[in-house]
Amino acid sequence: MTPPPETLEFKAELKQLLHLITHSLYSDREIFLRELISNASDAINKVKFNSLADEAGLEDNKDWKIVLAPDAEAKTLTLRDNGVGMSREEVIDNLGTIAKSGTKAFLDAVKAKQSNDVPGLIGQFGVGFYSAFMVADKVTVHTRTKGGPRVGVKWASDGQGAYTLEAAEKADRGTDVTLHLKDDALDFLNEWKLRGVVKKFSDFIEHPVELVTVTPAEEAEGDEPATPATTKQETINSRKAIWLRAKNEVTPEEYAEFYKSIAHDYTAPAKTLHFSIEGKSEFRALLFLPAKKPMNFDYEEQKAGLKLYVQRVLIMENCEEVLPPYLRFVKGVIDSADLPLNVSRELLQQNPHLDTIRKNVVRNILSGLDGLKNTEFEKYVAFYRGLGPVLKEGLARDWENKEKIADLLLFEHAAGESGEFTTLADYAEKMPAGQDQIYYLAGENADQLRHSPYLEAFRAKGFDVLLLTDSIDEFTLPHLTDYKGKKLQAADRGEVKSTDGDIAPEVQVGYAGLLTAIKGQLPEVTDVRLTRRLTESAACLVVDGGMSAHMERILKRAGQGGEAEGGHRVLELNPDNPAVVALKELHAKAPDDARLPVYARLMYEQAVIAEGSRIADPAAFAKRVNTLIAESVK
Ligand code: ADP
Repeated sequence: MTPPPETLEFKAELKQLLHLITHSLYSDREIFLRELISNASDAINKVKFNSLADEAGLEDNKDWKIVLAPDAEAKTLTLRDNGVGMSREEVIDNLGTIAKSGTKAFLDAVKAKQSNDVPGLIGQFGVGFYSAFMVADKVTVHTRTKGGPRVGVKWASDGQGAYTLEAAEKADRGTDVTLHLKDDALDFLNEWKLRGVVKKFSDFIEHPVELVTVTPAEEAEGDEPATPATTKQETINSRKAIWLRAKNEVTPEEYAEFYKSIAHDYTAPAKTLHFSIEGKSEFRALLFLPAKKPMNFDYEEQKAGLKLYVQRVLIMENCEEVLPPYLRFVKGVIDSADLPLNVSRELLQQNPHLDTIRKNVVRNILSGLDGLKNTEFEKYVAFYRGLGPVLKEGLARDWENKEKIADLLLFEHAAGESGEFTTLADYAEKMPAGQDQIYYLAGENADQLRHSPYLEAFRAKGFDVLLLTDSIDEFTLPHLTDYKGKKLQAADRGEVKSTDGDIAPEVQVGYAGLLTAIKGQLPEVTDVRLTRRLTESAACLVVDGGMSAHMERILKRAGQGGEAEGGHRVLELNPDNPAVVALKELHAKAPDDARLPVYARLMYEQAVIAEGSRIADPAAFAKRVNTLIAESVK
């Protein structure tokens, strides 16, 4: 006669945990399946390992699999494995106490957070076996080790503080976990729900996960004969952890398919990076560089997405800790052998392996991009057009890799055709003797910038100028003060020295009166001076410290900064331009001439237009020009 089941109490901490689990509505509660499948998979690995020394332990039961058997009538879901099983003592130790560090850490975190975010925490930690109580109001575990049917035991609990334990024969070695599903969790009886969850979390488990489906019997109806109920059992996980395979065993098609499935991008990736690191930290990585900005890519969305697996089990969907945000266009998988299965975000941050992983990942991505740029430039350009602005954020954020990021930058340039790109290395190499700085000019549009008066002096000297057209350039480029020892300098800032030397003192003296008079007419500018910057145009505005015109426009569009267009800048005049010369002469002859203030304003307004800004009163400007026309043909 078998003795009646014994009733035993859970350890105190476990009681708290079960209370938390059963009393928090948990949106992501499907992870219970991940936890139970992982346990089953571990149990199989254990018996496989043990049998290396003791073949007899296998009892001819080595067709390794994990079976999911939903029973709609009984409202139960059973997970069956032919793993190592548990003895009575092991059941008490493993299922009656908190044996593992992860669960303990979970409870500590709940305490620290005053248990407000229990659901979120469960998702991050996973709480192993006990997560079953998120979906079940009763769980039974029928298990036995290699000792034969008689050593079987049955454990049962409603998760309320106590459990029962009894001897119960079991024909095969292994463990059956049966969940009596709660009324609001009956969707876990559904074939497609189960397929979906397994696909999401456990697709790459090395052992087959088989789903039992039953097609109910049908009674005869009219001409249709009766059909008996049929049961099918099929493998529902692909088991293809392609990142664990050797590179030469994976076809480009398989890589592309895998990328599309994880990135939800329809275009095949530009480059696949598949590598492993061995040594102190061991991990494998399979990363993809997109061919171009995916349709669903959102610049504002900062979430970096690498899937973190610990030995084939998905632990985190978006592990930000291994990928800096400026590389958030990279998609892929990291599989670590060193992290604990129940690792949480908080624990991750303290984990020393993580640093190694991130550094390696970043290094591989940056050199992967560099390789693409050097070997398939067109492909790189296609990538860069959409995703370059994201990459550039790294200049401001990743101090350590600034040089490498700088090498990945592309720019249109004044000497190039429209749509043609150069790199900093290329620019620097082509710098003529006498040029010791790298010049750039920022604006909305490269073609417009090519006509900018700011380029005149540079062109005259044979200096190329990089044309910056991403709004982010003005925020990120300043973080790159120099490239390989050459300073980066905005072409519209500060004074420009001409190769013909400075402006001669007598010229300065000749213009002094006019400059003062014009300045008196233009409260918008901080100063009016002569320049060698211009070879053709009459006037331009330059920034002497402070914000550039382009930056000012960006902020304005963003609803910030209320300065008048072209405000707080220096008006520079070209002393060799006939109009400027004519003004000087007019001023010398008749300093009170009524036309002088009008012409002063026109000089300013043409400079505003030339820098790409808008003049404050276009109608008044037109009127001034028309008066001029009328007078000149009189
Ligand atoms: P963890 O798996 O993180 O250690 P769990 O709470 O999920 O924590 O499980 C506790 C322990 O119970 C496991 O470490 C394992 O020893 C045992 N166990 C759980 N499920 C099984 C199973 N299907 N077969 C054998 N042992 C199991």
